[in-house]
Amino acid sequence: MISIYWHCLGLTGNDEGFVNGALQELVQHLREDPIRLPANIKALNDEPKVAKEINAILNRLCEQSYTFKDAASHIQEVLLDSLLDRVKSSNLGFFIPSLLVYCHRDSAIARSALREDGAGPWGAECCGFAAVYESGNKFVIWHEALHLLGAHDCYEEDDPYRRKPDCNCNSCTMQYVPTEDTVGKWSLCDKNVKKLKDLAEEARKVRRAKKNS
Ligand SMILES: [Zn+2]
Ligand SMILES: [Zn+2]
Repeated sequence: MISIYWHCLGLTGNDEGFVNGALQELVQHLREDPIRLPANIKALNDEPKVAKEINAILNRLCEQSYTFKDAASHIQEVLLDSLLDRVKSSNLGFFIPSLLVYCHRDSAIARSALREDGAGPWGAECCGFAAVYESGNKFVIWHEALHLLGAHDCYEEDDPYRRKPDCNCNSCTMQYVPTEDTVGKWSLCDKNVKKLKDLAEEARKVRRAKKNS
């Protein structure tokens, strides 16, 4: 089972509904043809112990010397530790620890994300930890959540409004600043569809091997 945790910080109850809705819509698209990836989403607050540890990590992002990358590796440790037993005891057997945090652009999380190379003006992702700090745009939530599942950017870093030659989709969600106008509906290039299909296949293989063991 592939789960993405989500968490809203310093925002309102409406934001929680917005993020949850955007991610629910995304996993619905992922479960359908041609990708067929059985991804799930979970509110971090549904696991109070894990949430407490992760909030402590996120709070450290106020410290100048503590980077977004540091937080990403510590978050990964917490998620792995807390869920390892569950993964072992289930017959699902496949787990990608990942967390998407929705926060204000002027928050310490957003500021630390923006200091990383390759951070977008809407969000950033590193080693299973994504931050989204553009509000009200579900396409940037999709973009960062897709990074959590291994999707690659489809824009040239030195000229971000130019599409990479290996992206065959004008309205690809992995473009620079994806919006309602530029993406419109669920849209992903073949390269990234293949990455996600491969992940789905890998998950199925592990599940089959576990069943047979
Ligand atoms: Zn990106
Ligand atoms: Zn693309």
